[in-house]
Amino acid sequence: MARPLSAPRGTRDLLPEDAPAWERMEAIARDLSRRYAFDRIDIPLFERVELFARGLGESSDAVEKEMFRVSGASGSEEERAEWALRPEPTAGIVRAYVEHGLHVRPGPLRLWMLGPMFRYDRPQAGRYRQFSQWDVEVIGDPGPMVDVELIELAHRFFAEAGIRDTVAHVNSIGDAACRPGYRAALVAYFGAHEHQLSEDSRRRLHVNPLRVLDDRLLDPELAAGAPRSVDHLCTSCTEHFATVRDLLDSLGLPYVVDHRLVRGLDYYTRTTFEFFVAGREGQQHALAGGGRYDGLAELLGGRPTPGIGFGLGIDRAVLAAAEQGESPGPQEALVVVVSARTDALEPRLRVGAALREAGLRVRIDGSARKLGRQLESAARLGARWAVIVGEELDRGDVVVRDLQSREQRAVPLATAPELLKQSA
Ligand code: AMP
Repeated sequence: MARPLSAPRGTRDLLPEDAPAWERMEAIARDLSRRYAFDRIDIPLFERVELFARGLGESSDAVEKEMFRVSGASGSEEERAEWALRPEPTAGIVRAYVEHGLHVRPGPLRLWMLGPMFRYDRPQAGRYRQFSQWDVEVIGDPGPMVDVELIELAHRFFAEAGIRDTVAHVNSIGDAACRPGYRAALVAYFGAHEHQLSEDSRRRLHVNPLRVLDDRLLDPELAAGAPRSVDHLCTSCTEHFATVRDLLDSLGLPYVVDHRLVRGLDYYTRTTFEFFVAGREGQQHALAGGGRYDGLAELLGGRPTPGIGFGLGIDRAVLAAAEQGESPGPQEALVVVVSARTDALEPRLRVGAALREAGLRVRIDGSARKLGRQLESAARLGARWAVIVGEELDRGDVVVRDLQSREQRAVPLATAPELLKQSA
């Protein structure tokens, strides 16, 4: 026998028994996208490495360490080096925005998508190499109201998913006017403590000193004494952030200001935020993350356009809901069409089709086994009902059997769906 193969490290198969929990999260995401008036966008699973290098920044973990390069089966070395699986969706969405000239449409644009992202990170619980995100983006809106609208939206997602005690960590990391001053303050501070920094942080200190703050290895005392971005904001960024906090307060949305929350990517400006379950606030437990990226469109060759969005991890939402005892609820009732007549294949298909047309969830037993066997296997499949196709069909009737009470009666095929739906 050939040696069985396993799924690549850091990936997972979604087995049928896992699917209801996933579908529930996806359904909530789709429904909220609709209610908050977002339009769907889809972008390729892979893009040019250059897009991520420019958009996310060369020194971001996503580009520096976690890029999932696509190596095609053929093609030149050069061509193969050009592509990477998307580590996050914002760069691709803004690329599409610029490429298709979407700025001419009535704005702001509100876009959503759902799909897999790829990061070549060390796999561990809750951190995968392929994971799924629900993502929303608002392009062309400078805020601050929309910043809070998105935080409220993420809170609502968790509430509807049955994930309790979520808290938003928020911060403002300034803009092109005030960030340079803040960077200089960080370089001065961490420069004076360089020997206490990890190798990564020492290297990044002069490229992107903000990243030093989200180094997992950073000494907590050193972090606590570090300059805070809120103390370096220009007037307009200060006002923006004050309004964001005021609105969060007046809506009663749980949040804390987290001075270390700089987000890992270069494109963020002003408002940044991440979501956690209170008390489980380590990076690896983040349920969602996002922020404002007012400079990104320009960086990707478009005109200056403000934008803001977040990505919410479906895998982690499923885990968090399960940890809190939330279950996806009962499955829709199953109907199995059976028949004692081995010559009745066409009638079985016809009856099955009629029930499906009426919206029921239907399997058809196509076997020549005895009727009793067919009913047993329907029960084993978890079916609630069997619809028995026999001679009665000549009069337009089928026999509906309740697989729990074992009661059965003949009813017209035309009214069977009503009966099956009523008592599902
Ligand atoms: P990020 O852009 O890294 O903040 O990612 C946004 C959200 O996606 C996070 O808050 C997580 O919920 C989820 N996420 C990020 N990376 C992973 C990963 N490697 N495995 C599973 N979920 C992830």
